[in-house]
Amino acid sequence: MESAALEAVFPALGTTNSIRIFRFEDRAAAGEALGRAKARVCALHDRLSVYQPESELSLLNAAAGCAAIPVGEDTLFLLSQSKRYSRLSGGAFSVSTRPLSALWEIHARCGTVPSRVEVEQSLSLVCDEDILLDERAGTAELCRFGQSVDFGGIAKGYAADEARRILLDGGVTSALLNFGGTVVSIGDVRHVGIQHPDRYTGVAMGRVALEDACAVTSGDYERYYEVDGVRYHHIVDPRTGYPSRSTLRSVTLLCGCALELDALSTAVFVLGEQEGLRLVQQAGAEAVFVTDKLDVFCTEGLRGNFELL
Ligand code: ADP
Ligand code: MG
Repeated sequence: MESAALEAVFPALGTTNSIRIFRFEDRAAAGEALGRAKARVCALHDRLSVYQPESELSLLNAAAGCAAIPVGEDTLFLLSQSKRYSRLSGGAFSVSTRPLSALWEIHARCGTVPSRVEVEQSLSLVCDEDILLDERAGTAELCRFGQSVDFGGIAKGYAADEARRILLDGGVTSALLNFGGTVVSIGDVRHVGIQHPDRYTGVAMGRVALEDACAVTSGDYERYYEVDGVRYHHIVDPRTGYPSRSTLRSVTLLCGCALELDALSTAVFVLGEQEGLRLVQQAGAEAVFVTDKLDVFCTEGLRGNFELL
């Protein structure tokens, strides 16, 4: 592995994040940019995490059905982008799935499966159209009591875009960012592994070349639990209320904007091969799919850049 000239590894957004800088115009400016990028990602975590009781998002969720509350630019921007990707994906991506994720998280801890009634109750609260934004007043509101939102499916992408912007401003010319499966390459061509869904972390099925671009993966193998041989993972299908049962084990998307890829990879994973592929093409992104039969295939535009291992 290339050795980095400057490096930061830190926890935020529910994962370990690494920023590795290889080349720059000026060492002091690059070092400063690295510090600012890290601080920006940590600030986003504090503002956007549903696991922080004082975060803007937690306050918004607590006020559901009661009041519009003031939120900052990041929250407003991410909520409006989330609503956009919800519409674009026919609801497969929905940040209002929090009541379902919370329900499944409780059962994951107990090793149990929620009853259909519990799932139906949480599902009835899922509706991204119920997120009301007033950009001028700088407020957001959830219409109904019990509704809640979380940015687990989109925040890492936004954070990675922000970190990249800060590094470029600081004269960084070559770097690699990895925010828990959200990878951004600045400068040189680098290879990103397509994780084997059933092997140890780091064992790749294939690899794809990435030049000045982002790659984001959503899969069923990172966070899941099993009951009676059935796997329950952390991406829920907002149409059924259950962890999505598409024919995909993972999807890796590539293009220039990590936020877009983060939202779309979650949506494509829910939609499955055929509908997912249509969404990828509509967005002008490229993709590598790993199916439940462990078949691997990629979109036209990646031929030549993708290699099976
Ligand atoms: P990861 O965080 O593992 O990289 P994703 O980007 O696919 O994976 O996001 C999964 C997270 O997004 C979940 O942990 C949950 O917080 C949230 N989430 C789950 N299902 C959906 C969905 N259908 N739409 C939007 N967000 C979701
Ligand atoms: Mg995502």
